[in-house]
Amino acid sequence: MIVTVLGLGYVGLTTAAGLAELGHYVVGVDIDNDKIEMLNRGDVPIWEPELAPLIAKNRQAQRLAFTTDVQKAASQSDVILVAVGTPAGPDGKPDLTQLERAVSDLTSCLPSDALLIIKSTVPVGTTDQIATRLRRDVVHNPEFLRQGSAVHDFFHPDRIVIGCGSEWAAERIRRLYQGITAPMIVSDRRSAEMIKYTANAFLAMKISYINMIADLCESLDANVEDVARGIGADHRIGHAFLQAGAGYGGSCFPKDTHALLYLGAQTGCSLPLVESADRINQLRPQRLVTKAEHALGTLRGKHISLLGLTYKPQTDDVRSAPSIAVSRLLLEQGANVHAYDPRARRFPIEQVEICPDVETAVHDADAVMILTEWDEFRHLDWRRLLPILRCPVIIDGRNLYRLEEMRKLGVAYPLRYLSVGRPEVNTWR
Ligand code: NAD
Repeated sequence: MIVTVLGLGYVGLTTAAGLAELGHYVVGVDIDNDKIEMLNRGDVPIWEPELAPLIAKNRQAQRLAFTTDVQKAASQSDVILVAVGTPAGPDGKPDLTQLERAVSDLTSCLPSDALLIIKSTVPVGTTDQIATRLRRDVVHNPEFLRQGSAVHDFFHPDRIVIGCGSEWAAERIRRLYQGITAPMIVSDRRSAEMIKYTANAFLAMKISYINMIADLCESLDANVEDVARGIGADHRIGHAFLQAGAGYGGSCFPKDTHALLYLGAQTGCSLPLVESADRINQLRPQRLVTKAEHALGTLRGKHISLLGLTYKPQTDDVRSAPSIAVSRLLLEQGANVHAYDPRARRFPIEQVEICPDVETAVHDADAVMILTEWDEFRHLDWRRLLPILRCPVIIDGRNLYRLEEMRKLGVAYPLRYLSVGRPEVNTWR
């Protein structure tokens, strides 16, 4: 089939390359000229494992092309997918400006027999409204890929959700994804939109739940890792999303929980579980900064080194990352903040000094704070690094190290190691 994908961010670019790999002829469209020029030069504007070679392979096979010309691309397509951004606006209300523009751009050039698919995460009722406006069936096909393993997730999804109003549309989307083995869940459009928000809010709740328990473990001298292992072994609970730490970030969980709360408020339906998950998450950065204060007394004039700026490993994305809130809090308290991340794209706080490597970032530090679980940080040689710190304080916001390992290290190199929901290791003072 001939396919157009509108919006070439993490979702759109991965989807375009994945559909080309499945054998379709795909044109990726974006309004960002620089992005299209980069892609046409053979560069990839985002970093996502396996994506660059997949794009290169399919461009070479002439199954994948990029343009800013939506009219030309869409007017020749059998299927048009919209994967533009739907960021949170004020009050948690999703900002649908990008989507509205995309739909307007398509209005005059949609072939009568083409299938329009909304992949962006949108408030319940949005796809129905677009269908009414365009007087045709429009599908909502929510995306569940995870940044960091987006290409893998495209080819191996847990399920494909199809929210549509006709068997014709469902059949065409089955053809689109032919080659991918996954259960197809067909529903009405509103339920499909609801599935996406409900899934993300549930995962956010799981993270906040274990973080809440981690705080209690700290007060009771228990170890949240053992607790998570113990409850995760129950197959009704499962181990995923039970890692206590700095909290969730990224472009989905914070905005989708806020969107769900907004939808609840609009309809007079309170969602106290989701509210609590959000409140717990918003307090995580302060909790880490308090650990630094606890170890150092005041933070004024102190040099704090952040290891990890992205909201999770294997991505270059810092949108709503805990590192942003942590940096703001540290700067407010008068600390100097230095940071290193292996992949982060431009960090939004200028006062944070970005360093080229771990060693430069931690040199003369009063405390090192680990905020992203990059593999590189799991294998740091602390025997070499501790002597170049001013104070041997490590605040591990991702519980990267075993306590036993840090206790052993602390015998030869006095240190203070504070992690999340686990007893402190203190051989320093
Ligand atoms: P993104 O912000 O990375 O990319 C959006 C792209 O759309 C940008 O390149 C932008 O220039 C382009 N764009 C904006 N308006 C356009 C228009 N009118 N025509 C063509 N292009 C336009 O977004 P993303 O992270 O890929 O997310 C896209 C959607 O998918 C969002 O609704 C998001 O909630 C959802 N989603 C994201 C993820 C994820 O992990 N990022 C996962 C599942 C679902």
